[in-house]
Amino acid sequence: MCRKTQFATEEDARFYIKKLRRTSKRDVIPKRAYLCPKCLHWHLTSSEIEPHNELSVQHWRQRYTAEIERLWQIIHEKDAIIVQQNAEIVRLRSLLDDVVTGEVEMSPESDDERC
Ligand SMILES: [Zn+2]
Repeated sequence: MCRKTQFATEEDARFYIKKLRRTSKRDVIPKRAYLCPKCLHWHLTSSEIEPHNELSVQHWRQRYTAEIERLWQIIHEKDAIIVQQNAEIVRLRSLLDDVVTGEVEMSPESDDERC
């Protein structure tokens, strides 16, 4: 999709610019890195101004911060369900132990007194 060299992180891209400044004999050395909205990788550019299709890091941070918060919310909700279910498993296992050891008699009418 993108012919430009792709970098996974901004740090990688900037590191490469520094390296080019030291070692490259090219006339044009990239000036900065930008996050590409098409491939979601970092590219290098020698242009000072941001192209119109280039989204600002600020924009991406805002967008992903909201998304990450939403996902954490879901994780917390799922965690709560798991904790609840684990407690229920522990309760049922303990009840089963009591039944096996004869401390509690199984009867369809009797309610579990520990509830
Ligand atoms: Zn790209």
